[in-house]
Amino acid sequence: MIAKHIADELKGGKFHLYRLRLKEISKSELLTEIGSPSSIDSFLVESQVARRVIDRIFGFEISPELWKALKGNSLSAGRVQSTVLRWICQREEEIRNFTPENYVSLKALVSDSKDEFLLDYVLPEEKERLLEKDALEVLKKYGSSKPGPLSHKESLVLKFIEEKEYKNFPPPPFSTASLQETASRVLGMSSSQTMKIAQSLFEGKKTKKGEYTGLITYMRTDSTHVSSGKKNLALGFLKENFPSLLRGGPTKGKTKLHAQGAHEGILPINPYLTPDEAKGFLKPEEAKLYELIWSRFLESFMNPETGTERNYIFEGKKESWSLKEKEGKSTGYKGFRKNEPLPKDNGNGLKIGDNVSILEWQWEDKKTSPPVRYTEGSIVQKMEKTGVGRPSTYTQTIATLQKRKYIYEAKKKLGASPLGEKVNAFLISSFEELIGESFTKDMEKSLDVLAKGEGNKLSLIDSFYKKVLKLKKEKPKNILPKTEKGISKIPDTMQHPSRKKCPKCSDGTILTKFSKKGKTIYFCSNYPHCDLLSYEPV
Ligand SMILES: [Zn+2]
Repeated sequence: MIAKHIADELKGGKFHLYRLRLKEISKSELLTEIGSPSSIDSFLVESQVARRVIDRIFGFEISPELWKALKGNSLSAGRVQSTVLRWICQREEEIRNFTPENYVSLKALVSDSKDEFLLDYVLPEEKERLLEKDALEVLKKYGSSKPGPLSHKESLVLKFIEEKEYKNFPPPPFSTASLQETASRVLGMSSSQTMKIAQSLFEGKKTKKGEYTGLITYMRTDSTHVSSGKKNLALGFLKENFPSLLRGGPTKGKTKLHAQGAHEGILPINPYLTPDEAKGFLKPEEAKLYELIWSRFLESFMNPETGTERNYIFEGKKESWSLKEKEGKSTGYKGFRKNEPLPKDNGNGLKIGDNVSILEWQWEDKKTSPPVRYTEGSIVQKMEKTGVGRPSTYTQTIATLQKRKYIYEAKKKLGASPLGEKVNAFLISSFEELIGESFTKDMEKSLDVLAKGEGNKLSLIDSFYKKVLKLKKEKPKNILPKTEKGISKIPDTMQHPSRKKCPKCSDGTILTKFSKKGKTIYFCSNYPHCDLLSYEPV
């Protein structure tokens, strides 16, 4: 788009205009591109124009509807933004309506002549969880009425040993979404911080030798593809340095529906520039992110992590108990990173027919937990997976939702604010079709078709515009709850029939608030008349 604008400005000069597409800022890339310059891709420009017009129609036509309905003219709706808001609000609703279930984790502490170890009770296939009454039934078979040490002799026999080899392949190189997610998880960086640092690595640094060079390829991409040039560099480097870990080619990511054509994953420009060497001229945070990108790229060419998994199955009184062990080999990609411990053999040396005696029942009361809120990283991954939005706008979309105070972040989790939920409820009542996953996906597909030079820009815009106008005319299907200052006299349970009823007053419904400390507070819609308040699901 920028190139197109520049070209328009320069038109009419006495020179020919070329377009160079640089995936990285390096001498070799520049020379290659100068060797075969191309021109502006008018189909791509057309598709981008259509995208912008459609996004403007969405914003200009729907935002005023929000102002009218919710009496706030700072509110806004956006095609991608509103879909993401919907996901976050949906999760909030799932957390609100979640009913915890109690269950038990039961283990037997046993001993053979040499060792003591713990066996897990094996749940019958048709059961999802072990309920307290069923666990007590198991104990009863052995003459125990409660958990704890056994005073009489009972034993279990080893019946089978299941053994299988496992293979974990290294993940493909980074795309924008996986880089943001991993940097957040491993380095504690926010998405915007990650992108800022990645941008500086892309733009380039002055190395110790005084040369100026880019360190990584373009950081906004939904592809994990590795070009043949980069592949050869990686194979060369690995052959010299880690020959025993080398596999033929990189792990390939799943082909994304919407991956933008010739893009590559986020790769180091020169694998021979090791993180240790780069530390010499990078700031500490830059060095950490470079190391992450560099290792992930090289790992993708390495052997899978392999090993053996063993499951020892003991039989008691018609029920089974299991001991699992995992033994890893150090010839896989994980052995390359010193901080990744390999799974070790428990070394019990057990044989079929071995008897073990039960020393103690270990019992733990457990509760199922509500779904977890999205993090910036996981929501961006969902955007990439579903094709909603573009790598260049992931971070911006979340920033806009935060700026509008529709969502907020606490302890790295994203929660919907009451305002965000109101906006979302209104959008769903009137424009549900436009903020659905499948509609957004189809729209991206149509825009991709335009970018390939097929389809018609105007008819796509026209049909979208007509759809928006039609939905605007139709009456909303649901009445919006007027929650401000108790204007509404309709009982809460009628407004939100799907919401869980308050167990205390049985009139209100359960509401949630996501606290600044990252905890969910459950309370009643009749607050302060009903004082139900809990940090646990009710
Ligand atoms: Zn209540």
